[in-house]
Amino acid sequence: MSEAFNVADIFGEDVFNDTVMQERLPKKVYKDLKKTIEEGKELDLATADVIAHEMKEWAIEKGATHYTHWFQPLTGVTAEKHDSFISAPLPSGKILMTFSGKELIKGEPDASSFPSGGLRATFEARGYTAWDCTSPAFVRHDAAGSTLCIPTAFCSYKGEALDQKTPLLRSMQAINEQSLRLIRLFGNTTSKKVTPSVGPEQEYFLVDAEKFLQRKDLIYTGRTLFGAMPPKGQELDDHYFGTIRQRIAGFMKDVNEELWKVGVSAKTQHNEVAPAQHELAPIYAEANVAVDHNHLVMQTLKRVACRHGMKCLLHEKPFAGVNGSGKHNNWSITTDDGKNLLDPGKTPHENVQFLLVLTCILKAVDEHADLLRESAADPGNDHRLGANEAPPAIISVFLGEQLEDVLDQLISTGEATHSLKGGKLETGVSTLPDLAKDATDRNRTSPFAFTGNKFEFRMVGSRDSIAGPNVVLNTIVAEAFSEACDVLENAEDFDVAVHDLIKKYATEHQRVVFNGNGYSDEWIEEAERRGLPNIKSMVEAIPALTTDKSVAMFEKFKVFTRAELESRAEIKYENYSKAINIEARTMIDMASKQIIPAVIKYTKSLADTVVAVKEAGADTTVQSDLLTEVSGLLAEAKKALNELIVITDKAAEMEEGEAQARYYHFDVVPAMDALRAPVDKLEMIVDKEAWPMPSYGDLMFEV
Ligand code: ADP
Ligand code: MG
Repeated sequence: MSEAFNVADIFGEDVFNDTVMQERLPKKVYKDLKKTIEEGKELDLATADVIAHEMKEWAIEKGATHYTHWFQPLTGVTAEKHDSFISAPLPSGKILMTFSGKELIKGEPDASSFPSGGLRATFEARGYTAWDCTSPAFVRHDAAGSTLCIPTAFCSYKGEALDQKTPLLRSMQAINEQSLRLIRLFGNTTSKKVTPSVGPEQEYFLVDAEKFLQRKDLIYTGRTLFGAMPPKGQELDDHYFGTIRQRIAGFMKDVNEELWKVGVSAKTQHNEVAPAQHELAPIYAEANVAVDHNHLVMQTLKRVACRHGMKCLLHEKPFAGVNGSGKHNNWSITTDDGKNLLDPGKTPHENVQFLLVLTCILKAVDEHADLLRESAADPGNDHRLGANEAPPAIISVFLGEQLEDVLDQLISTGEATHSLKGGKLETGVSTLPDLAKDATDRNRTSPFAFTGNKFEFRMVGSRDSIAGPNVVLNTIVAEAFSEACDVLENAEDFDVAVHDLIKKYATEHQRVVFNGNGYSDEWIEEAERRGLPNIKSMVEAIPALTTDKSVAMFEKFKVFTRAELESRAEIKYENYSKAINIEARTMIDMASKQIIPAVIKYTKSLADTVVAVKEAGADTTVQSDLLTEVSGLLAEAKKALNELIVITDKAAEMEEGEAQARYYHFDVVPAMDALRAPVDKLEMIVDKEAWPMPSYGDLMFEV
């Protein structure tokens, strides 16, 4: 047990945050840096030298020996290259600890081994990491010692984005500019900056490390590729919000402590729907910081789990038949003086600015549903979206009764005159207080739900970076704001024009609003009637990136160039193919070397039993029947295995790109399913002692 501590004392103790900067930097340097952080002013090298020196001194006091530019290439995880602070030895034989402004601002990792999707030929290996001073540096303590981590963007020699952060920062600029235009129209002259705020809720599974290590599928792919359902699953709903077991509680305590130290405001934690599934949510932060923090959360969960003899599974679907994990990306837009543009107030019908913002968002989501869908696509999420545990693959917006009513009034009469009230929730127990009820219930089945003063994009995969979804959200909303401002800035009568525009947007994009059950089959039909896209898989979602519509928008707001979008699409196809290839090969390996041999051994012992029973003159019906059944499934498995080998080899020989990724999706994945089916049936009937790996029950109920 670690010592008791006061959260307020340790919070942010390993972060080079505003307080530390104010304390340690000369006044002028601090001011210049703030200007850079807040207004994007360029930082001169002399100032950077001073900051670097102070940052180094501070980090060394925290025990740091190395520094690293911490960046987010298109591998989905973060990357780092550690350099120690030591200088060349002096004539005296001693060394100095140095860190220059140049080293702080710019790094040059060899970029040739990171995915670039053809943006950069391998001989142009140069890639640059550039300090992102809007996300604070921090010291991380782990087995490697203590390291000063400097959040950075990662670009090619020509300035093309090779990472997740660069486009995110660009999209934040876009929404800042367009939001400022919009609020100025409504008479706001004081706010200087508008930023998207993001609070991601992270779901994850914990399993025992020893059992994990007995499953090659978990080791290589992060999910189980075989596995029969245990007698008990999640049907009793006894795990959701259930009492947290001691082993897990100890883990959560350590996770919180580590996160608080690096300034991540881990706030809520609870058990999730599936056995062994949990959730952690931080308090929201500026989009850019929230993305970095979410990476820290994922890394911390993994690291601390290992210390507790467990493994943290971030995969979207670790267990078939059991709810998988996602990430709810809560998103709002806030001014620097604290006004949330998504706050409807008590009487939304009177809040014209809010209604404009809301209808702009409806327009954005409707027009770019394909891009939003794509932003949530990763190989793991293919198992969840549309599978009645996560939102369907159809993008729709949940507004709730109150706002939908306001919208209906606007559309039918052109005028909204009242807002539904929440009223009182009567508990019927005299000793319990009557609670004030929200004007709107919640909807767990909607991919994009309005939740009071923010939208919750509920489709994102648990393992994915949230940068992509936020780039899309920021940019599509910036575009809608920009188009609205183009109209309104030139209007003769602003009041009439804004009223007409709200009505127009509400009418034209009402089709994307859906308050009902998103998991139902009726919705799928209804959505089709409404003409909403239903993009079922990652490979079918990727083309959205490079449509003329998408390229025009991203180029207009300087978030992506066409070349950058094309390269991203290439990388996604490649990543998908690689992921499925690894899964197929792992299945082949497990089936050939573990499962089929184990079943053969089992059939042999069954056959021996039949002989022995017969010799003893007893009835062998039961044993013979079982032997027939097992042998039949074994033959089926062997045949499916052979087919999977042929198909996977064929896929691997294809040229990288869309056609290959589609082949993996439409041919290799079904061949994997065909192998899995007989194997899972075998697991149900073969002696547990003979089965070569821990079962779902062992993994989920014995953590
Ligand atoms: P639930 O599970 O009910 O959706 P949680 O409390 O687990 O809610 O998570 C809500 C998330 O929304 C938190 O991460 C929180 O910080 C975030 N959030 C709250 N207000 C805002 C806001 N204005 N903008 C963005 N995120 C927000
Ligand atoms: Mg949520």
